[in-house]
Amino acid sequence: MIKYALILILFAEHLFAQTVSENLHVTYIANEGFMLQTKSKRVLIDALFTNGYGAFPTPSQSTLKKIVNADPPFDQVATYLLTHYHGDHADSKLIRAYLTRHPEMKLITSLPSLVFIDGEEFGFVKLEKQFVEMTPKQNMSISQTINGIDVKAMAIKHLSFFQDGVDIEKYMFNLGYYVKLDGIGILHTGDASMETFKNYMEKNTHLKSPVDVAFVYFDMLKNGKADIDYLMKTINPKHIVIMHVWESAYEEWSQKVEELKNYFPNLWFPKVEMETKIYNLDR
Ligand SMILES: [Zn+2]
Repeated sequence: MIKYALILILFAEHLFAQTVSENLHVTYIANEGFMLQTKSKRVLIDALFTNGYGAFPTPSQSTLKKIVNADPPFDQVATYLLTHYHGDHADSKLIRAYLTRHPEMKLITSLPSLVFIDGEEFGFVKLEKQFVEMTPKQNMSISQTINGIDVKAMAIKHLSFFQDGVDIEKYMFNLGYYVKLDGIGILHTGDASMETFKNYMEKNTHLKSPVDVAFVYFDMLKNGKADIDYLMKTINPKHIVIMHVWESAYEEWSQKVEELKNYFPNLWFPKVEMETKIYNLDR
């Protein structure tokens, strides 16, 4: 009898092993800056910047210092992703200091971003061993495994902004990323608009890998339900995080997010530096 009970217990354990739940720990830094952490991986994206253009939240000096010094919770980060080099995403001096202090650190970004930083920080190219340059053609992608993380860099055009009939964001090269951390699929759009995102998706059939959490530029949801429907139809995210909201529009967007939650409950609009969320994801 004891033998059978033992077999039953072993069998039950085997059954449980079929559904493993993995945690994704997200720490909001500011604007589009986040730390993403799973069982064995920790990455930073768009976290080192200082310019909010008077409109967007910026990280505090103490948080920037902690990141550059790799003080907890920013220790054990080995991979840094940068979407593009606008001042509300990247500070050349800080990025150089960070890479210099941590010679094992890899910086994943596009050639235009590297060229820009090198222009601002003479001699930056001396750190080239730490660069992982990924520059796909517009609306194309490149995939690579870096530090055990599968990274797909997607050339989703930066959202357009017209002045005198000219798209003044024409030259700004934006990368969206799809990363896999311990089996968890994360999408970060960078500064995309729904229009530029759709253009990308049209040329790239649905992201085959599952998206557990999608970090999207807030304006991509300006049409509410219709935009959520499009995302569900194409990338089908389990969770959505809204980012890059203008500080003057916080109230308006807090309200909008609450309304949208009736339709898609797994929405998060982080506003406070170091605010965290733990996603428990079954697979
Ligand atoms: Zn931008």
